Amino acid sequence: MPETERVLILAPIGRDAALIAHTLQQAKLDAVPCAAFQDLLANLREGAGTAIIAEEALTEHTAALRDWCDSQPTWSDFPFIVLMASGGDVPPFRAIGNVTLLERPLRGISLISAVESALRARRRQYETQAAIAERYEATSLLARQAEELTRSNADLQQFAYVTSHDLQEPLRTIHTYSQLLQRRYSDQLDSDADEYLEYIANGARRMQKMIEDLLAYSRVVNSEPRTFSAVDMNGVAEWTISNLEASVFDSKATIEFQNLPVVWGDQIQLIQLVQNLLSNAIKYRDKVRPLEIHITAERTGDQYVVRVTDNGEGIAPQYHDRIFDMFKRLHGRDVPGTGIGLTICRKIVERHGGKLWVESEAGMGSTFLFTLKAGE
Ligand code: ADP
Repeated sequence: MPETERVLILAPIGRDAALIAHTLQQAKLDAVPCAAFQDLLANLREGAGTAIIAEEALTEHTAALRDWCDSQPTWSDFPFIVLMASGGDVPPFRAIGNVTLLERPLRGISLISAVESALRARRRQYETQAAIAERYEATSLLARQAEELTRSNADLQQFAYVTSHDLQEPLRTIHTYSQLLQRRYSDQLDSDADEYLEYIANGARRMQKMIEDLLAYSRVVNSEPRTFSAVDMNGVAEWTISNLEASVFDSKATIEFQNLPVVWGDQIQLIQLVQNLLSNAIKYRDKVRPLEIHITAERTGDQYVVRVTDNGEGIAPQYHDRIFDMFKRLHGRDVPGTGIGLTICRKIVERHGGKLWVESEAGMGSTFLFTLKAGE
């Protein structure tokens, strides 16, 4: 809201000023007559809602008034009311901006209505400005918060990396000394002690695997997308299958893929992605059905949707989101795993600007789908 809604009046000749002031005051408006142009200017600087100026008082001061208007904030468009001689030419006052012309002789009702419109217009300018300022404040607060979030995320990622890295050392000590105990003192220990040492060794191994996976996750999170290039997904599939040769052989899996596309990405991470998905398909295969895995791709616009389909145990729909969370598993200790594999997969795809999700029913196999940008 404007600080003041004073109505300044500059009509030095005749009785106009007194009459106008009287009319406005009767309408409960705050009328302030000004004796001369300098007086008007001083009052404008102090604040006003509108100003009524007689044409003859303005002619020689248009430039000074223009200067005052120019000194106002960009959102401001101060409303002037200019009193003209009846039937006169349209004067050059338009240069000062927001001008309403009123012809003499004045009618009280036209005057009051012109003043009220001017005051309302001024009020709207302040309201709009306040709304813009509020919006601006909210936007810059959001931008500041986003910046802080990025910084604290980066700190957290760094923290995760350093801690997982440093945790490896004490873990190695636990592992080494429990093995030493077992080797050197096995003849002096009873079967209970042997069992406890085995628990320690198992726990240490599990923790080692979790730390390795956490480090792998941190590496993906901290990786630079600068290493992106055109990557042939047929090569990625071949490479992955040869990395998994032993478990493909043991599981007697059939893996089929043909004419996979060239995509835009980080080759090492894409191998990591497909390898995680294929080793899951092998790990969670059906006990009876011979395992079959198909990798296919389909273009939509400038990206590909790649599908890795298996005929394994499948995943009930209520777990479709949860399996991508860190450490979330649907299996017990009898099936090895840390629950980070799919978290890493999703991170890799997101760093490539794509999405990863699953379509599956319990007992009906699973299809993991991800999108990647075309590389050609
Ligand atoms: P991990 O394999 O180490 O447990 P993941 O994050 O790779 O961790 O997978 C999370 C869970 O999702 C697994 O524990 C498993 O229950 C389920 N899952 C993943 N892939 C498949 C699949 N192809 N078929 C059935 N279940 C799967």
